[in-house]
Amino acid sequence: MRCKIHRGCHEIGGNCVEVESQGKRIILDIGLPLKDQNAVRVPDIDGLTSLDDSLLGIFVSHPHPDHYGLLQQITQPVPVYMGEAAARIIEVSSFFTPLPPIGTIKPRRYSATQPVHLGPFQVTPLRIDHSAYDSYCLLVEAEGKRLLYSGDIRGHGRNPHLFQQLLSNPPPNIDVLICEGTQLGRDPEFSYPNEHSVADRMVEIFRETKGMCLVWCSSQNIDRLISVWDAAQRSDRQLILDMYTAEIVRAANHDPLPTPGRDGVKVFLPQSQKSRIKREKAFQIAKPHYPHRIYPEKLREAAKHSVMIFRPSMFGDLKRAQCLEGATLITSLWSGYVRRSHDDLKELEQEGVNRFHVHTSGHATVEELSQFVQAIPTPRIVPIHLEDRGAFADLSTRVELRNDHEWWDV
Ligand SMILES: [Zn+2]
Repeated sequence: MRCKIHRGCHEIGGNCVEVESQGKRIILDIGLPLKDQNAVRVPDIDGLTSLDDSLLGIFVSHPHPDHYGLLQQITQPVPVYMGEAAARIIEVSSFFTPLPPIGTIKPRRYSATQPVHLGPFQVTPLRIDHSAYDSYCLLVEAEGKRLLYSGDIRGHGRNPHLFQQLLSNPPPNIDVLICEGTQLGRDPEFSYPNEHSVADRMVEIFRETKGMCLVWCSSQNIDRLISVWDAAQRSDRQLILDMYTAEIVRAANHDPLPTPGRDGVKVFLPQSQKSRIKREKAFQIAKPHYPHRIYPEKLREAAKHSVMIFRPSMFGDLKRAQCLEGATLITSLWSGYVRRSHDDLKELEQEGVNRFHVHTSGHATVEELSQFVQAIPTPRIVPIHLEDRGAFADLSTRVELRNDHEWWDV
């Protein structure tokens, strides 16, 4: 078995790993890089845009664009495997947001610990804690060799037991671990060590706020939605989801999530999402939410006992609804995204909206990475999805730095 990382040895985002055994190949992730997205072409791998039946399949570790975002460029009928909820989440996101779609591909479902057999390969997904829902490490076996690909991992979300299970009971006899290293060398965003501390701080802010509490978080960050919902309940506030978020909740189909109708949760349809539904004549999306909708004219009176999932594109809706008096905004996502929306946030500030940043990272801390690489029984560790290769090399003497586009034996 041999391996080629097409992208990820020197950057965060755009992961793509090709694995070959006995002339057959599979791909682990096919992500959109975070930089220069418009110019990016699908990696030069036989079978993606030209007929080559030695390419047996593509495995997507989780529904973040930097792991699946180039699927739409594939023109050949290569089987694509991912988690069932992951596929639904991608479908909803690409309808409501500029996030990449998967084109005409009909993904095949894989499930935790259920091996998928493809030619000489056996691929076993192992569920893991990450800010994306339905995330997996992928164990690839062929020719008696075993390769473990981490995907994106962390140990401080709402499923830390998944991370702990891998540490205490790792898959045995791994020949190579390909491991993410996002947090190395990054500005550590760990004033809040885990999701529970995020929820606790939100409770304090919600209780101190006189008007509407707005929370800007990724709708795909299922753990964070649960934290917001938990904090809203503890502060006796109702939760208002925008329709995109309500659809993500439906797609994830995960019990602890705030479900419109079931939990007194309301759904608001911002103008931009309304236009999208009208343009695509996708009225079936809005229909199930009608009984639970809250309309703009009701927002003002609901403000003081509500928490609302927010995104900058909703600012105009809220301004017109005159519901921002005494409001607070919590930015609850990577500070890089917050900086990019500086102008929108400035406008909110001018409306008198107070702002707080309450977030914990979707990726493993340096400490968690260190625990992970110590726990996996392997003589070789190849880092991916990182910028600071030197810092990763300091984690273990078993680290082997590789470059994009080079083949190496497993
Ligand atoms: Zn991710």
